[in-house]
Amino acid sequence: MLLETHQIVKGYGREPALRGVSLAVAEGEIVCLLGPSGCGKSTLLRVIAGLEPDYIGTVRFAGQPIDRVPVHQRGFGLMFQDFALLPHRNVGENIAFGLRMQRHPRPEIERRVAEMLKLAGLPGYGQRTIFELSGGERQRVALARSLAPRPRLLMLDEPLGALDRTLRERLTDDLRRIIKGIGLTSIYVTHDQVEAFAVADRIMLMDRGQIVQSGTPLEVYRHPATVFAARFMGLNNLVPAHVSHSAGQARATLMETALGPLEVAHANGAHADAIVLIPPEAAELATPDSPNVVTGQLIRTTFRGSADRIVVRHASGIELELDVEAGAVTGTEQVRLALRPDRLVVLHPKQAEP
Ligand code: ADP
Repeated sequence: MLLETHQIVKGYGREPALRGVSLAVAEGEIVCLLGPSGCGKSTLLRVIAGLEPDYIGTVRFAGQPIDRVPVHQRGFGLMFQDFALLPHRNVGENIAFGLRMQRHPRPEIERRVAEMLKLAGLPGYGQRTIFELSGGERQRVALARSLAPRPRLLMLDEPLGALDRTLRERLTDDLRRIIKGIGLTSIYVTHDQVEAFAVADRIMLMDRGQIVQSGTPLEVYRHPATVFAARFMGLNNLVPAHVSHSAGQARATLMETALGPLEVAHANGAHADAIVLIPPEAAELATPDSPNVVTGQLIRTTFRGSADRIVVRHASGIELELDVEAGAVTGTEQVRLALRPDRLVVLHPKQAEP
């Protein structure tokens, strides 16, 4: 592992901002620290960067403890939301900034700046002023500036936080492609799960100063470890349940819920009391053979392009947000849907949110 933190504890005043955080980042990996505002993401990044003098625990880089290495000797690159390009310098001078500080020879700086402009998809932009750039272009200049001094690790703290969603979605792809293209190990902080899904090789979900789950975007989305994790992924169909004793020899576990019995394909270690998570994409139109048929009243439909997000109210009063093929259900009549057993997840209620 290129970077490791061991049991980092950091407090401001009484409440610890980090409560024993251990993580490991492999060479070339992009890790996203994801979590709600105030959960400690920036503090952790600052500890790794060397910007926090007081903390307990150890940070290792390439096997060596670096807790006493000053910021500028770590050789890490940083990119923050207020990326603070120098407004009165042109694009080339902005990208050259770190290289000048390191007193590289001029021809080498020029070569490197041209290389970075190309990498950022901005060839020929060297002489432009910062004011002539769009928000997205500024962002890519900021990235080029962070990358120019060949950092050993790149840290990005909400780098796209100030941009609108459409631009952000495009830039997350650009950022990932550029960073993966040079194989740079990176830690990316965001509170936006969509951004994290697009950028990360691995997501570390944080809650109140701790890492609560770590996995690929698909793993974290498909198998959130806790109710908190599920809700944070935008998965809100959470139905109280308990393991049915009439499960018999069925391969799937049968969970009793207010929606009726639900078959769950992988319910390893299901507790007597549990919560069944129904992701919106678990729904499909019921056929005569479907397991897990749920009927309810269609109370809302939102067109989302490739699918409709519908809200169905079951007789028990439970409302489910589900995705169905666009136009597949209409009106306000009763709808019959089936919930795929392989998409349902059983969670432990004790791991509920605060
Ligand atoms: P995040 O980046 O996830 O939004 P932060 O790491 O910025 O969270 O903050 C974690 C906690 O530490 C929050 O409760 C925040 O209020 C507190 N905190 C952060 N920086 C300071 C500071 N300089 N002084 C006092 N409290 C701070």
